[in-house]
Amino acid sequence: MSLNITPPWDDVSNYVDGRWREPSGPDGQDVVDPATGKVISHVGFSSESDVDEAVRAGQEAFETWQSTPVEERIQPLFELKQLLEAHQEELAEVLVREHGKTLAEANGELRRGIENVEVACGIPSMMQAGHLPNAAPDIDETAVRKPLGVFTAITPFNFPAMIPLWFLPYAVATGNAFILKPSEQDPVVTERLFELIDQAGFPDGVVQLVHGSVDTVNALLDHEDVAGASFVGSTPVARKVYERAAKHGKRVQAQGGAKNHIIVTESADLDFAARKTVSSGFACGGERCLANDVVVVEESVYDEFTEHVLESAREQTVGNGLDESTDIGALITPEHEARVRELIATGVKEGAELLLDGRDVSVEGYEDGNFLGPTVFGDVDPDMTIAREEIFGPVIGLLSVADLDEAIETLNRSDFGNAASLFTSSGADARAVRHRADVGNLGVNAGTAAPMAFFHFGGRKESFFGDLHAQGEDMIHFYTDKTIYIERWPNSQA
Ligand code: NAD
Repeated sequence: MSLNITPPWDDVSNYVDGRWREPSGPDGQDVVDPATGKVISHVGFSSESDVDEAVRAGQEAFETWQSTPVEERIQPLFELKQLLEAHQEELAEVLVREHGKTLAEANGELRRGIENVEVACGIPSMMQAGHLPNAAPDIDETAVRKPLGVFTAITPFNFPAMIPLWFLPYAVATGNAFILKPSEQDPVVTERLFELIDQAGFPDGVVQLVHGSVDTVNALLDHEDVAGASFVGSTPVARKVYERAAKHGKRVQAQGGAKNHIIVTESADLDFAARKTVSSGFACGGERCLANDVVVVEESVYDEFTEHVLESAREQTVGNGLDESTDIGALITPEHEARVRELIATGVKEGAELLLDGRDVSVEGYEDGNFLGPTVFGDVDPDMTIAREEIFGPVIGLLSVADLDEAIETLNRSDFGNAASLFTSSGADARAVRHRADVGNLGVNAGTAAPMAFFHFGGRKESFFGDLHAQGEDMIHFYTDKTIYIERWPNSQA
């Protein structure tokens, strides 16, 4: 079987109780190729009753699934890994057509998603909780982890294939049922993912997909039989989702937006640091929660580093993500492109020096695409809008500081705390940043601080609401609760 990768595509469908169904709500929106501006599909939004149907199917499936032996529960995940690998190229192409990123980036995203499926196959070991014989006289104590029921995840547009997999494999391997509500902006790749899930051998109702927007999310968060919710998206929505789910007594983890910093010290390899800065800021068109777009440089090397950055930034090719020579693909929508342009204008108005202006870019043959070229500001001040607000476009701002102390203070002034990177050859500088930077992910001589799936992923401050993060061991804690068995057998010969 091969996946349908050639648009235009039929309207996307929900996957509920093992069957494909049309969302029945009155609203919906077109799915548009960001590189061509052409409508390639349509997504209908799910109604409250669609959500209720999925939750009921999930509950019914949970009754059996929670006591299915764990070894059996992970078999569909092994199958899913094979299917994802066999269809990775097709999924990547679908992803590029509806998201705009490059094929290399789409393949990288899928690889990172598959990694989570692999890690979740280790649940039989990861889910064990502990046993202590003779914890008290004649008493043995055993902790066990139990799944909780039906979980949901609400995911953003920027990694539509990977982010659902931060949650889905762990939720089901631990014995829960799972309902995904993906972004309405690029839902086709998720539908293709579910075409593979459909073949992987999960019982009906264990893994489900409902499309929609705000009302669909609210129906999931308000439903009394949803045990918990994971959210990834912008900070204002993350805060709302966190509060709404908590109000209903649910477990909730909500990952928000970001404003990440790079620190470059005078001992850094400046050419290497500049190339990593450029790829960190511009990969996926800057539409990444790990994009570092504020670059804080020690003043002794500021001018030299800036030259390296400009040289590397000028080499970036803007174009359709399907073209292998493209480094920077299209932004998700014309509205988002307009917002990034507005932020660039604000940067100029507030006095930053526009060293490289990407606003005039044009891509031959794709005049209706949402393209912006690499944009670099110098002399940025930490109080400027472009130094404080998430831009989510191919824009970086360079900022000069006297020393490492001032660099760390600048980083920690941010409202966000998702990630940061440090370029240095000094172990003492690295140690100072490790101890003092208030961020969830820190790279040292690594431009993009993206943890592998066996480590947790999550930020701090306005970048995260909750306590347990995505991926790895945190997911086991999120998706299970612990019970202690305290046993005494008076006639035992032990
Ligand atoms: P978004 O907040 O607009 O949408 C995310 C999800 O929430 C979508 O599924 C959407 O349908 C739903 N949604 C939107 N408005 C809602 C509302 N008012 N009530 C309930 N649900 C609502 O985010 P986006 O534009 O799709 O994604 C980009 C954002 O996600 C950026 O801010 C980025 O930094 C962030 N992000 C964060 C991480 C992280 O790990 N911290 C990872 C990826 C993306």
